[in-house]
Amino acid sequence: METNTKPKITKTDEEWRAQLTPEQYHVTREAGTERAFTGKYWKTKEPGTYHCVGCGAPLFTSETKYDSGSGWPSFYAPIDPKNVEELEDSSYGMKRVEARCAHCGAHLGHVFEDGPKPTGLRYCMNSASLNHTPSGNK
Ligand SMILES: [Zn+2]
Repeated sequence: METNTKPKITKTDEEWRAQLTPEQYHVTREAGTERAFTGKYWKTKEPGTYHCVGCGAPLFTSETKYDSGSGWPSFYAPIDPKNVEELEDSSYGMKRVEARCAHCGAHLGHVFEDGPKPTGLRYCMNSASLNHTPSGNK
C-alpha cells in the first residue's frame, strides 16, 4: 500500500499558511482532525466534485459519498486512486491507513474497511481538506 512517491507540489510552511485557513493548515499539513459533525461537508448531498484544498486535484465525487453516521464526509471510493495516496499510520497507538493527496501531500483523513459495497471501504475525510464544487458550476 505504501508507494513512497514524493508529492509533486511542494511549498514552504509560510506558503501553505498564506494559502490556507488555520484549520485547513492544521488538518492538511499537521494531520489534524476536525471535530465530528462540525465540518462544512459531512452532511452535504449536493452533486459535485470534491477537490483538494491544497492543490485543487479532484479527489472525490458526490456519487460515491454516503452517510456513514460518523460526522465526517465519507466516500466509498476516490475519483481516481492515483490522486489519493494511502499510507500506514500507527499514531495514537492505532493501526490505520492515512489518506493523503498524491499531488501535494495534504492529509485528507483515514481509510477504514467498514464501508458499503462495492469497495467495502470508507474514506473518512475532513471537510477542511476539501473544496466542494457543485456540478455544472466549474
Ligand atoms: Zn492536493
